[in-house]
Amino acid sequence: MKIAVLGGGITGLTAAYTLTKKKNKVTLFEKSPVLGGLAVGFKQPNWNWHLERAYHHLFANDYDIINFAKETGFNKIFFKTPETASIFGDLGIHPMDTPLDFLKLPHLNLFNKFRAGFVLAFLKFTPFLSLFEKITAKEFIKKTMGKIVWKRLWQELFRKKFGDYAGIILASFIWARITKRTKNLGYIEGGFQTFINHLVKESRSLRVNVLTGYEIKEIKKRGAKYLINGQIFDVVISTLPTPVMVKLTSNLFPKKYLERFSKLKYLHALTLILETNQPLLKKTYWLNVSAPQIPIMGIIQHTNFIDKKHYGGSHIAYLGWYLKRDDRLFALTKEELLKFVLPYLKILNTKYKILNTYNFKGSFAQPIFDKDFVKNKPDFKTPLKNFYIANLDMTYPYDRGTNYAVKLGKQVAAMI
Ligand SMILES: Cc1cc2nc3c(=O)[nH]c(=O)nc-3n(C[C@H](O)[C@H](O)[C@H](O)COP(=O)(O)OP(=O)(O)OC[C@H]3O[C@@H](n4cnc5c(N)ncnc54)[C@H](O)[C@@H]3O)c2cc1C
Repeated sequence: MKIAVLGGGITGLTAAYTLTKKKNKVTLFEKSPVLGGLAVGFKQPNWNWHLERAYHHLFANDYDIINFAKETGFNKIFFKTPETASIFGDLGIHPMDTPLDFLKLPHLNLFNKFRAGFVLAFLKFTPFLSLFEKITAKEFIKKTMGKIVWKRLWQELFRKKFGDYAGIILASFIWARITKRTKNLGYIEGGFQTFINHLVKESRSLRVNVLTGYEIKEIKKRGAKYLINGQIFDVVISTLPTPVMVKLTSNLFPKKYLERFSKLKYLHALTLILETNQPLLKKTYWLNVSAPQIPIMGIIQHTNFIDKKHYGGSHIAYLGWYLKRDDRLFALTKEELLKFVLPYLKILNTKYKILNTYNFKGSFAQPIFDKDFVKNKPDFKTPLKNFYIANLDMTYPYDRGTNYAVKLGKQVAAMI
């Protein structure tokens, strides 16, 4: 069969590879000149590893990507246990990796710690319950862990990650986060881009027609088939963000089907990467910024996880945000963004010199898991025969990730 895969992120690449192994003729269309989508990396001439535009790691239980990598002959995933911590209003950095770390938190009394600890353990070991879709995370945490725990531990985390949407996120999000999290974190020798490049190379050697710099603007129907780029396809798989797909298919799908997607809400990712001569954070890899006075969601000191020797001896820190498209931070230039954050970074450290900065944006990177989302999210099958969707909205209840991109790519390929 002739198959068009739209989008060259990890979902599209996995689907293209898997379908070609099943003897189909696949063409993959990617808008950007580089493949990898949200997991794409970049490299400076004096670095020997790629660095993701947005911080990336794997969890120890990300079996779909771990097994798929092996299946394709790729054995470069390794695991380490870097420190995760939070900075609260008191501006102290508190590790958050173990129950003992949790017991040491100064903001909660022992009763609240035990109560919250019990609920966290329940979430970790309980299977998904439909109850988690009937209540927001905020209500769930307030009811089970208590109002003080919500206020002192969670409120700011939710506000930083979801902004105005913080109050409508379902409890299923928190369940998935707790269930999935492992202390061991994985990375890829050479960066995630090495795996992406490997997949592209393997796919090309299987004769996948990989087209980069090709933005799909229109898909037409020709009888039971589809016309894209002047070529006829039997099957189309869209891995594009749902709002992008909706735009492209307004003449293809029934209006009613597309209307449901207008209920989906998204935030967009913004990262500012600092390459410095000294680390911003001494020990911590992942710092949740739960201090309301610091307007940054998270600081990820990548080189406290991965050796700085791979980046020409420089230290690498990401500053990250999820924002609405009209947020003023999105409109800032890299220099303006740096100027904005510098006074806050001084609270953490003053003994470093910035050598380089990099600034990236990722569209529709964070779907909002609310009640509307559960009712209206896309599914693999569409009203049109042989037109499939596999995109990051479909990882629910789990937060999107490269593991689920692989899983979706394989699942959609298995349907054809
Ligand atoms: C800030 C951030 C941090 C993350 N951290 C992690 C992490 O730690 N671990 C982890 O595993 N995952 C992480 N992820 C998630 C992970 O990157 C994604 O889940 C995964 O890469 C999604 O792959 P995808 O192929 O489904 O989608 P995408 O990567 O979005 O791929 C879709 C592709 O479609 C292309 N496209 C769009 N429009 C068109 C068009 N009109 N024509 C042709 N092509 C088009 C895009 O350019 C893109 O390449 C993170 C994401 C972000 C944003």
